[in-house]
Amino acid sequence: MSATEALKNAIRDVADFPKAGIVFKDITPILANAALFRSSIDLLCATSGGQKIDKVVGIDARGFIFASAVADRLGAGFVPVRKKGKLPWKTHQASYSLEYGESIVELHQDAISLGENVLLVDDLLATGGTAAAAVKLLDELGANLIGISFLIELSFLKGREKLTGHPIQSILTY
Ligand code: AMP
Repeated sequence: MSATEALKNAIRDVADFPKAGIVFKDITPILANAALFRSSIDLLCATSGGQKIDKVVGIDARGFIFASAVADRLGAGFVPVRKKGKLPWKTHQASYSLEYGESIVELHQDAISLGENVLLVDDLLATGGTAAAAVKLLDELGANLIGISFLIELSFLKGREKLTGHPIQSILTY
């Protein structure tokens, strides 16, 4: 079995969570399995294509789990994009609509220096609203966005269309 097949087999589909009509991709069985978690990080790290990455940016909350491990592996810093009201220092904000709701994300104003090479990582690309909001925040800080990497892409939701102009890579596509 290939590494990606093994990861797909471990993902648990949970119907009607957090609301009716959503099939939630539960990645906790991957996290709980040492070999699968390592392989998910291996595959996400490979999306950097060997380019020097200064900061790996992770999106609240499951994105943090993958992005922080990727940052450590790539010898980069980790930067969180958080939901409104969680970051203590001065922030930039961006609002967006989610597959299941509306939200605002924030980034510390001093989190990234002008021209730093950034890899944006999240667990899942659905409608693309969350990642597009994060990209807007990174653009405001003058980050050099090398790529956007997801463990899972729900391609039927066409999230990629909201992220044009940046290389997008997904490990598992549905
Ligand atoms: P979106 O902004 O629609 O691309 O939504 C992406 C964010 O919502 C990601 O950070 C995911 O963690 C979460 N998300 C959206 N849809 C799902 C789903 N079907 N299963 C698991 N997580 C999801």
